Amino acid sequence: MNDPVPAPSATGYFLPATIAEAGDLFLRHKGGARLLAGGQTLIPELDRPGRPADTLIDLRRIAELGRIDWSSGRVDIGAMVTIAAAQSGLAEAFPVIAACFAHVANSAVRNRATLGGSLALADPASEISTFLLAYDAEVTLIGGERISVEQLIAGRGDGPFINTIRLPLPAARERSGFAEILRRRSGGRSLAMALVRLDAERARLTVSGGACQPFRIEAAEGPALLDALVARSSIFDGHSTRAWALAAARRALATAELPC
Ligand SMILES: Cc1cc2nc3c(=O)[nH]c(=O)nc-3n(C[C@H](O)[C@H](O)[C@H](O)COP(=O)(O)OP(=O)(O)OC[C@H]3O[C@@H](n4cnc5c(N)ncnc54)[C@H](O)[C@@H]3O)c2cc1C
Repeated sequence: MNDPVPAPSATGYFLPATIAEAGDLFLRHKGGARLLAGGQTLIPELDRPGRPADTLIDLRRIAELGRIDWSSGRVDIGAMVTIAAAQSGLAEAFPVIAACFAHVANSAVRNRATLGGSLALADPASEISTFLLAYDAEVTLIGGERISVEQLIAGRGDGPFINTIRLPLPAARERSGFAEILRRRSGGRSLAMALVRLDAERARLTVSGGACQPFRIEAAEGPALLDALVARSSIFDGHSTRAWALAAARRALATAELPC
């Protein structure tokens, strides 16, 4: 079902072809409308009691939302770009993305789930959020407002309509590493994950996972990140959670420090 657009009280399924059309539908059905991206989380949710969806706005026909646009010093990624497409399309500029996104579920999920859908879930233990936080991503909303990924994740619940995700490009000589500690070797819940970025001027560590809310630390050089992490122990809720975060950080740092 697409046109004509029904009255705001109507229920239904819409397949808009443009961002403008989708934005208009979203506004008209504010509150009862759910945006449908890859459907990996939303479709199973529709059968469960809880949050109903009076109206579904399916974004899959909107070509603009599936684009990756490179420009000087940055890349803009459409909200409908899948995890798999981002993993391959961004690998040259962000080599760590291969290891980081490989931890997301399985290839079936990665080929359908989108960056916009993942971010909208605001899951602090997500590899997608961790990567985007580590690279200082900004989110452009339908309507043009720009907010940081941190702001988006902090505002859980009914979120805004995400248009694109903007990433500043890292320095060409930057080195990076990612590591994740899982409850079991395969399919386990994430206990902690860490992404380290090292360049000539500074070292940066982003930690998240089941152990704590995501946070970032900066230091002058790699090993100092671990000292800084130990010093922040009050943010963990126990010895084990701190140990998992430290283990993830150590592994990520070791990967980043490997000779090129
Ligand atoms: C079996 C399984 C394993 C998984 N494992 C992992 C994992 O290891 N790590 C991980 O990070 N994730 C994991 N996920 C989560 C997966 O990444 C999410 O299901 C997926 O990212 C949601 O994206 P989607 O495109 O399918 O969104 P949908 O399911 O279509 O939508 C999810 C939510 O986002 C909203 N939404 C969609 N697009 C937008 C938009 N443009 N703007 C605003 N809101 C929007 C929807 O309304 C809905 O509320 C797993 C999922 C499954 C099913």
